Amino acid sequence: SSEFKGKHVTVAGLGVSGVPAAKVLHGLGAIVTAVNDGADERARAQAAELEALGITVRLGDGDTLPEGTELIVTAPGWKPDKPLFAAAEQAGVPVWGDVELAWRLRGPHAAPWLAVTGTNGKTTTVQMLASILKAAGLRTAAVGNIGVSLLDAVLGDEQYDVLAVELSSYQLHWAPSLRAHSAAVLNLAPDHLDWHGSMEAYAADKGRIYEGNRVACVYNVADKATEDLVREADVEEGCRAVGFTLGTPGPSQLGVVEGILVDRAFVENRQKNAQELAEVADVNPPAPHNIANALAAAALARAYGVPATAVRDGLRAFTPDAHRIAHVADVDGVAYVDDSKATNTHAAEASLAAYESIVWIAGGLAKGATFDELVTKSAPRLRGAVLIGADRALIREALARHAPEVPVVDLDRTDTGAMRAAVQEARRLAHTGDTVLLAPACASMDMFANYNKRGDAFADAVRELGSADG
Ligand code: ADP
Repeated sequence: SSEFKGKHVTVAGLGVSGVPAAKVLHGLGAIVTAVNDGADERARAQAAELEALGITVRLGDGDTLPEGTELIVTAPGWKPDKPLFAAAEQAGVPVWGDVELAWRLRGPHAAPWLAVTGTNGKTTTVQMLASILKAAGLRTAAVGNIGVSLLDAVLGDEQYDVLAVELSSYQLHWAPSLRAHSAAVLNLAPDHLDWHGSMEAYAADKGRIYEGNRVACVYNVADKATEDLVREADVEEGCRAVGFTLGTPGPSQLGVVEGILVDRAFVENRQKNAQELAEVADVNPPAPHNIANALAAAALARAYGVPATAVRDGLRAFTPDAHRIAHVADVDGVAYVDDSKATNTHAAEASLAAYESIVWIAGGLAKGATFDELVTKSAPRLRGAVLIGADRALIREALARHAPEVPVVDLDRTDTGAMRAAVQEARRLAHTGDTVLLAPACASMDMFANYNKRGDAFADAVRELGSADG
């Protein structure tokens, strides 16, 4: 890391990645200038913290390249079309993200990375993977977009055997030299296209995760785009493509046979052509998309050499984060489920596919999405729908077009109390055996601070129903 001594590095963007990156680089002897678009209170506090260390900070102008810059380390969210990057390109200055920096700073005996990306399911899969690796007795952590930051994992005192790394498409865009041991792309659906510019560019950034893989490129058999990315990737000799499927697995695949998760790709016992890993019931919750996540996690763990028994133990020990298909309560024979984290249509489609007869609570900020496909696919399962939030009309119109028989309550509200009313309306529509599912297919910021708060409001309203009964 002496390569940073005396080097002029510009850190673009304060915040969760920028502040630690600036400190680390400063500690390595780099001459750091931190630049930031905004100059709000939070930015000023962060600037003061860095300036106290002797770091130069420029607030309110993230577009001009500071004189003498030899390297830019950018926050992952900064858009590639920003003028700063055009200036960097013209000046021949390389641009790294926080992940690239962590990758370059890891020591010679550093833990290999098992990496996961995809439009949906990243956090869950990485946590399942860490749980499986722990069950195998390995020292590991779920890092990256979640939990421990990559810089901390790479530079901290904690020793790891292997890391379970969640990577966003933004982080991958800015990580040109990252080479994972093995990696998985879970699925690819249109998301963040305003940032990447096009679906092709988004897919190409996701596909970077496979570059240079040593053991396995894990793809989703049901999502051909992920398999195409494997084919296009430049990998180490001997690295294999390994698919996961909810059906019977072919050779080099993991899949499901009669309620059992099986592995045909990494078979220990040569007498058999499939290895039993776990039962569907070991996956929490056992919804189809989540079984896919479990298979992807198992594939990466198995690529690392983990025994089949650790897959089962790790999956059993795993509990999902809050607001991801969380069962809140049963009231009058109706189940109430919080999937507030379903913030886009692809995620909502997966959670709606997990139940038979649903009263669907949806709406919020659509982020430019359309709802026709989601509604068409989910219509047969809908007992009714209750709509809230700023962009609810888009969902209402899609329901009118593709599912006119489904009763819809449009609450025409965006206040926080609307969730309580929505739950009460949903209860009126629900029959015994139904599921009331909060899967908004939208972001939450029109009504709530974040998806956690939205899910909490739902759970509170459900508990109120329950206690009114008792
Ligand atoms: P991410 O980290 O990619 O946002 P999460 O694991 O937090 O993913 O899951 C977010 C939401 O996406 C879940 O609440 C669920 O609705 C949905 N989801 C999870 N896994 C999948 C999957 N494999 N395919 C489609 N949707 C999924």
